[in-house]
Order: sequence, then structure tokens, then C-alpha cells
Amino acid sequence: MNSIILTCPSCSAKNRIPAGKQHLSPKCGKCGKQIDVQGVAIPVELTDKEFQTFVKNASIPVMVDFYSPTCGPCKSIAPVIVKLAADYLGRVIIAKLDTSTNPGTAMHYQIRGVPSLYFFKNGEVIDQIVGAPPEGQLRQKLDSII
Ligand SMILES: [Zn+2]
Repeated sequence: MNSIILTCPSCSAKNRIPAGKQHLSPKCGKCGKQIDVQGVAIPVELTDKEFQTFVKNASIPVMVDFYSPTCGPCKSIAPVIVKLAADYLGRVIIAKLDTSTNPGTAMHYQIRGVPSLYFFKNGEVIDQIVGAPPEGQLRQKLDSII
């Protein structure tokens, strides 16, 4: 899993926070003060190895962008995914999975084309969008699953 490095506003210590824990009100490892992730949260990069455990244990809904680094529409939607990760912090976990390096999960969910956006609650798929939807449509979908 990827992580984000944030500077503590109280003691200036640099904290490495796993992307999957950004929504859990992370605290500074040095001084214990809460670190504000609002507005800077990034998408969680998942791999085959951690995918099932992560979506099953998530306490809030998860949206996963199944993408491939060489796909044009995936690149066009990537900045939107980044924006949503910050905007929906604490409400929906915005994650992504590179299907070219993690074929197991893509096969499991029978992903036929990328990008495919899957929406999970308690580890179960509750909805999906194939292709790159307009940002407004994607936000509507996210709002509907919260
Ligand atoms: Zn600190």
C-alpha cells in the first residue's frame, strides 16, 4: 500500500501515514497530536495481496478504480479520482488497483475493460460503472452509497 507523508502542525515531525488509514484520524507519532488529512488525502493503491482483507475490513464504503497505466480513459479520469479521495475522506474510501500488475483481483471480479469502478460495502460489490463517467455522475453515485 502507498502512503502519504505529512508534517505535524504542532511539532513539525514528518509522519508516514498508510493511505488506507488516512480516514482514521491519524495522530503524530512524536507528539500525539491529531494530523489533519482533510483536503490532502490520496487514493489508496491496493494490490492483489491486500485487496480482499482491505475491502472486507473497511468501516465505510470503498470505491475501487480498476485501471491500467497504459489506458487513455484511465489517465483522463485519474485526476478526478485524486480529487474525490480528498473530498470524500471519512465518507468513502477511494482506492485504485493496477490491473496490469494485479491480475488476480481483476480476474476475481471479471473486469473486462478499464477503467471499471466498483463500489463495495462490507466487502460486497453493491454497484459498478464500466468506463470513465463524468465527474458529476461519479459524485452522485458516491453520495448515494454513503
Ligand atoms: Zn507532532
